[in-house]
Amino acid sequence: MTSKMPLPGELDPIETASRDEISALQLERLKWSVRHTYDNVEPYRQKCEAKGVHPDDLKCLADLGKFPFMTKTDLRDHYPFGLFAVPRTKLARLHASSGTTGKSVVVGYTKNDLDNWANVVARSIRAAGGRAGDMVHVAYGYGMFTGGLGAHYGVERAGCCAVPMSGGQTEKQVQQIMDFKPEIIMVTPSYSLVIAEEFERLGIKPDEISLKVGIFGAEPWGEGMRSEIERKLGIDAIDIYGLTEVMGPGVACECIETKDGPVIWEDHFYPEIIDPETGEVLPDGEEGELVFTSLTKEAFPVIRYRTRDLTRLLPPTARSFRRIGKITGRSDDMLIIRGVNVFPTQIEEQILRDQRLSGNYQVVVTRDGHLDNLEVRCELQRELSGKLAPADIQTIGKELQHRIKTIIGVSTKITVMEFDAIPRTQVGKAKRVLDERPKQN
Ligand code: ADP
Repeated sequence: MTSKMPLPGELDPIETASRDEISALQLERLKWSVRHTYDNVEPYRQKCEAKGVHPDDLKCLADLGKFPFMTKTDLRDHYPFGLFAVPRTKLARLHASSGTTGKSVVVGYTKNDLDNWANVVARSIRAAGGRAGDMVHVAYGYGMFTGGLGAHYGVERAGCCAVPMSGGQTEKQVQQIMDFKPEIIMVTPSYSLVIAEEFERLGIKPDEISLKVGIFGAEPWGEGMRSEIERKLGIDAIDIYGLTEVMGPGVACECIETKDGPVIWEDHFYPEIIDPETGEVLPDGEEGELVFTSLTKEAFPVIRYRTRDLTRLLPPTARSFRRIGKITGRSDDMLIIRGVNVFPTQIEEQILRDQRLSGNYQVVVTRDGHLDNLEVRCELQRELSGKLAPADIQTIGKELQHRIKTIIGVSTKITVMEFDAIPRTQVGKAKRVLDERPKQN
């Protein structure tokens, strides 16, 4: 696998600016963004008035902590356009969140917003090692979901050639990759594994696949999944992060030379980490809920938007901007099983420590009386499927059960299934958790 260092001319100057320059730019833009929102978004102005704060109170970056949060509930309460800050004649596009966790929310973009978005996605592609002239196979879904179109315009802005494949039709995806020979793929990590399996099925080896880099996001994935994808496709797997409410993909992206967590494009998105219980701002390095304030958005500015994603802020490395650690999961993905907090990604990590198991898995939660039970369904790799004795399969299950118990602290029932027994998601995000507990009122 390659590790390309970017040439200085390939970076935007702000990516390597001093922290003082970055802070000065952030403060200037933050003042604009807070005032723009206050002046044009009535529900946010009311929230500020209720809290007794005014845009004039923002004198330094830390003053942002005095301002009220925005939440997904605010977006839903003012569906569809109640939080837009420009008249509808100024809108150039609408998108909606995929609705993983409830009713979808609608967001809007002006022409300038789309321009900035394309620029941050292009910057993300360069961070991932992409260069003008590369061909990029885009297998994120096109449509209201921000993944496909968000990636697409960034690819074009980076001077690359976009192949707007969208999700699904796995056989065709593979055929096209073999025929067109793209250097880069942009897709969810879970669907990249489905594509990798199709290559395996056809007997195509990683070194026969043209792809060099994959830019994966839209759902949580761990280091074990990274190694699995890199091994199966023979690529560098890079993590891109974003969310509809803040922009879409390209809020942050990893650099190929370090692969140490997505770099936040801090000249457009100002991050904070807060204690999800108290709302208090936490110092860099501490784990909590990620909060974003948009610095340049016109149509749909967000001030202190609570993402519900749990992570921490890490110091700059390959660029002058701070990074986010791997997203453990959303606060609403967290399962509490007999008092133990469990994220599906923690289970994924333990499954992928065993090379005999594939990266496809499902977690099923059921209730027995007052007790919650957790079943982990996992799968053998294709080359082992149908070839192992029942006793060997049982041993794989026992070892996994033991690892989950000792490392995560929760008892599980493990079901090791044959390859392809767990349904694959062809479009969008994988459904990892089946919660079959009766709904509480
Ligand atoms: P929805 O909220 O309906 O899923 P989005 O497509 O906007 O709609 O999803 C954004 C969310 O996807 C983020 O808040 C985060 O939870 C998840 N996500 C996006 N990129 C990543 C990533 N690289 N790692 C982990 N989670 C991610």
